[in-house]
Amino acid sequence: MSPAAQRESMQVDVLYVGAGPATLASALHLMNQVSEHNRRAEAAGRPGIEPPSVLVLEKAASVGDHMLSGAVMNPKALRELVPDFEQQGFPTEYVCNYAGFWIFHPKGKLNVPIVPPNFRKKGYHVVSLSNAAKWLAERTEAAGVEIYPGFAGDQLLIEGGRVVGVRTGDMGVDKSGKPKANYQPGMDIFAKVTVIGEGVRGTLAKQLVDRFDLAGQNAPTFETGIKEIWRIDPKKHVPGRVVHGMQFPEILSHFHGMWLYDMKDNLISYGFVTLLDSESPHCDPHLEAQKFKTTPWMRWLLEGAELVRYGAKAIPAGGLYAQPKLYTDGALLVGDSASFCNAQNLAGIHMAMKSGMLAAETLVEALAQQDFSAKTLGAYAERYRRSWAWQEHYQARNFGGSIERGTFFFGLNEPIRMLTGGRGLRDPLPTEAGHLRMKPLSELPGSKREKEKFEFDGKLTFTKEHLVQFSGTKHEVDQPSHLVVADTDLCSTTCAEEFGNPCESFCPAAVYEMIPDPGNPGRKKLLIHHENCVHCKTCDIADPYQVITWTPPEGGEGPDYTQM
Ligand SMILES: Cc1cc2nc3c(=O)[nH]c(=O)nc-3n(C[C@H](O)[C@H](O)[C@H](O)COP(=O)(O)OP(=O)(O)OC[C@H]3O[C@@H](n4cnc5c(N)ncnc54)[C@H](O)[C@@H]3O)c2cc1C
Ligand code: SF4
Repeated sequence: MSPAAQRESMQVDVLYVGAGPATLASALHLMNQVSEHNRRAEAAGRPGIEPPSVLVLEKAASVGDHMLSGAVMNPKALRELVPDFEQQGFPTEYVCNYAGFWIFHPKGKLNVPIVPPNFRKKGYHVVSLSNAAKWLAERTEAAGVEIYPGFAGDQLLIEGGRVVGVRTGDMGVDKSGKPKANYQPGMDIFAKVTVIGEGVRGTLAKQLVDRFDLAGQNAPTFETGIKEIWRIDPKKHVPGRVVHGMQFPEILSHFHGMWLYDMKDNLISYGFVTLLDSESPHCDPHLEAQKFKTTPWMRWLLEGAELVRYGAKAIPAGGLYAQPKLYTDGALLVGDSASFCNAQNLAGIHMAMKSGMLAAETLVEALAQQDFSAKTLGAYAERYRRSWAWQEHYQARNFGGSIERGTFFFGLNEPIRMLTGGRGLRDPLPTEAGHLRMKPLSELPGSKREKEKFEFDGKLTFTKEHLVQFSGTKHEVDQPSHLVVADTDLCSTTCAEEFGNPCESFCPAAVYEMIPDPGNPGRKKLLIHHENCVHCKTCDIADPYQVITWTPPEGGEGPDYTQM
């Protein structure tokens, strides 16, 4: 480190990592609850709590810029947090007045007359989560919380077996790892308690779970969602419409699914969710989303429409049994970082918010006692156990295990699961990490060894390279790649032979490319276009050898998911 660029440090009471619905709801609830605690203390003649210093770190250049979700939101948690959120101008696009479940088939679509309970969303709010996060951040800041956008948490600071804060990432390092003229070492932010809410597959969450042995009883499992916003013909635009659907005959072999939500200004949110549990190394969430648009009804809907945005993000699908232990000395886990998303309902916003609020209530007690040990913080897990969020997760607890076992088992298990309050044929139903299910090409039937060819027409369907421009993603090229591949030799040799380099398929932003290696004729080597990355985390999850680690790039870099 150059003497001119010393590492700075600061101390706060509560540090949040990530500015998503989980942490923003938590920070706002914390400030409200401290005021409420002090009001009651004053009335009873007891001393109150010193208002805590609370800081939220966010890797995006502004809050909401890395936020991607469907999104149709159950307003339950928000109503508890801000009861008059509608009057306060919460940015709802439309309130759902039609919730359909459609089967798309080669001749059109079929409206399933009885919508499965998990897709009954009447009264839910269609939102851009990016806009919703901005709205929440304004209120959180007004309550006295500081938010630092453009700062990525890079490492946990651990002393004496407890979490004491976070080190943010260095800025201004060139691709060989040397400091540039603008070099700025990351800051050490010390906190009495650190709340990790980085969303799916969090960098610090992974460090925390590994270091403190917090893993849940089931393996975490994931899906990848591709989202596109289109401006459609006003005649085809239906305010309040919320559609979930699947494709026939594909439904007989896998459970990928789609959504369609109408937004203001004749926009629609279209998304396609691919389970990351495929046996095929060619599994490609971007391709699945493109192919789905060629079904007749979707083709009709998007005829003459204009593509506005593109993005992708992984979704935690493991549910209750994949949840890690939620606390340790000096730290808590909230939201998707702790598998709070209810994948059965494709609904995680209200769960994330509620987890943050339950954490906040525990933090008030910890602040009052000035005790941030696991003993006090453990009350968070007890609160959760008594909450509606746990009840909701409990109902869905075997959903992931059920879909993982394929159509036949699912068809048998689902009615029983419904009749037995989520139990089904076996409880708990174990899950297997998706990357372990991937089969070497040699074990696939001959017809499946080659990746299917698909012609993108440039009107309805697009290549990854084209679509990535609609994500607005930006990264400095002259910096170390934030996609850290532990063994690139493996890519050229074993992986090329066994799996045919699945990174080229599963990444929805064409970040990974195997190019001819002039030094080794006949072999290819890995080229990483890190500047394309849309921060979906799929590679960190789906790589069969688990040698890819997604790390945060320089703070402020990444996609521009405004509106998403
Ligand atoms: C494709 C898709 C569709 C979905 N559809 C719906 C839906 O329709 N309805 C619904 O209710 N839910 C939906 N969900 C789920 C929902 O979006 C999530 O459950 C919810 O956003 C989780 O909130 P969170 O606060 O835990 O994390 P996030 O919303 O992911 O926020 C985490 C924040 O932390 C930041 N961050 C991450 N790492 C760091 C770091 N190291 N340092 C600093 N900042 C960091 C990120 O940039 C981000 O801003 C969907 C999810 C996806 C991916
Ligand atoms: S490199 Fe990884 S995180 Fe980035 S877009 Fe590709 S799969 Fe997603």
